[in-house]
Amino acid sequence: MTARTLVLLGAPGSGKGTQAVHLETELGLKHVASGDLFRDHVARGTELGLRATDYMKRGALVPDDVTIGMLRERLTEPDAQGGVLLDGFPRTMEQSIVLAAMLQELGRRVDAVIYLEIPEEELVERLSGRLICRECQAPFHVTANPFRSCPFGKCHGEHLYQRSDDNPDTVRARIATYHRQTEPVIDYYRLIDLLVTVPGSGPVESVKAAVVEAARKVVSKEQ
Ligand code: AMP
Repeated sequence: MTARTLVLLGAPGSGKGTQAVHLETELGLKHVASGDLFRDHVARGTELGLRATDYMKRGALVPDDVTIGMLRERLTEPDAQGGVLLDGFPRTMEQSIVLAAMLQELGRRVDAVIYLEIPEEELVERLSGRLICRECQAPFHVTANPFRSCPFGKCHGEHLYQRSDDNPDTVRARIATYHRQTEPVIDYYRLIDLLVTVPGSGPVESVKAAVVEAARKVVSKEQ
């Protein structure tokens, strides 16, 4: 069977990261998050990281030429050959068109796009209370999803930190960027019948169950 490609779409704060960590262990797809790749480049001080920093601080998208090259490289790495779960990419129409071409070269395609739908007013609160594990990138929330155990069994909450772009000003800019540049991508996947919408509000556990059910249907379908 061809390696699967699932895409997770949703506004910043819609819970993509939380769901991705869960889906990765449930379905055995490799979680590839463009934001994590950028943060890793920034932390290592690479040239790509230096180019990305200013955009990230402003809550703007890093230009497509940088982003697409980084993703192309990541998708050809050995651990991505069994199937991937893309989180945070594609975020522009151009990225989605290039993704289709990239996957075609690899003999794959986007199998489904899971869209986590969240009321706008919840986003700022979710992001400003968010804590991330520096070691495994798993996201938590101070009240809605406090740290109980590491999903990978690696640590005990000692590496939690707040992302620098989870401050109210940058959060607002990121949401505006999402409306302007990423919503057309959602409309596009709806139009070509790949979009599966999952309500992202409510208890984390019930959203997880709904996302896993939606993803399993796609993954178990014959190609
Ligand atoms: P995220 O962790 O997905 O919220 O991404 C953090 C930041 O990384 C974003 O605000 C952007 O500056 C940048 N970024 C992540 N993914 C992309 C993408 N697909 N295209 C452009 N910039 C991105």
